[in-house]
Amino acid sequence: MNRHLCWFSDGIASAIATKFYLRDHPDALVVRCHTGAEDEDNERFRNECARWFNREIITLKNPDFEDTYAVWDKRRYISGVAGAPCTMELKVTPRLAFQLPDDVHVFGYTFDGNDRKRFKAMGDNYPDLSIRAPLIEREITKANCLAMMQDTGISEPRSYAMGFPNANCLQSGCAKATSPRYWSLFRKVFPDRFTRTAAVSREIGCRMLEMNDERLFLDELPADYPTMNAVAPACDFLCHINGQDLAA
Ligand code: SF4
Repeated sequence: MNRHLCWFSDGIASAIATKFYLRDHPDALVVRCHTGAEDEDNERFRNECARWFNREIITLKNPDFEDTYAVWDKRRYISGVAGAPCTMELKVTPRLAFQLPDDVHVFGYTFDGNDRKRFKAMGDNYPDLSIRAPLIEREITKANCLAMMQDTGISEPRSYAMGFPNANCLQSGCAKATSPRYWSLFRKVFPDRFTRTAAVSREIGCRMLEMNDERLFLDELPADYPTMNAVAPACDFLCHINGQDLAA
């Protein structure tokens, strides 16, 4: 029998996707990759979600790397044309070690345009992989997910209230982020973590910022640069119907 793997990322979208999927596939496994760079509030959210799912969340970890900084240091590379090695070492490698050829993989991609493109690209790039995206199938956006999560009584990871678009790797900041608005927010909320990542990226020689068609070092980010805006919860008719399904 095929295994169904719900990939849980400590984020709201994957939590809602997992909950929906478990309704139809109660034997599905809930799995996450531990990067070692998660914000400290993620564990609280994860434990509350595990109780909500009434399932254990299986944690996978690459034993060769403690966290994102360890990957960047060993590879002497953070991000660029060759991608981000932390994704490969901390997320892809543990997944490949765990998965079986006939597994069905379930992801929290939302109905928002960019997510739909990314899900399609995944299907195009890995045609042999069986993949599902319950939120796209139900036309649920990220803002809808925020509203549905509020109805569960589980507080979202604190990263959302801080203004971040997800709960990814906030001990170091995300290697793939090039937006000056993201890094401006990261610097404002976590000045010490920003200083460390700026120093590491300068030492490795990685210009992580993209500004005005130029690549800049993090320590070149102007002091008064505006921060990114948080995604606001959005509730519409479809969201109400989906919310009823979620509570059933
Ligand atoms: S979320 Fe960002 S920092 Fe974390 S593993 Fe992925 S690319 Fe690296």
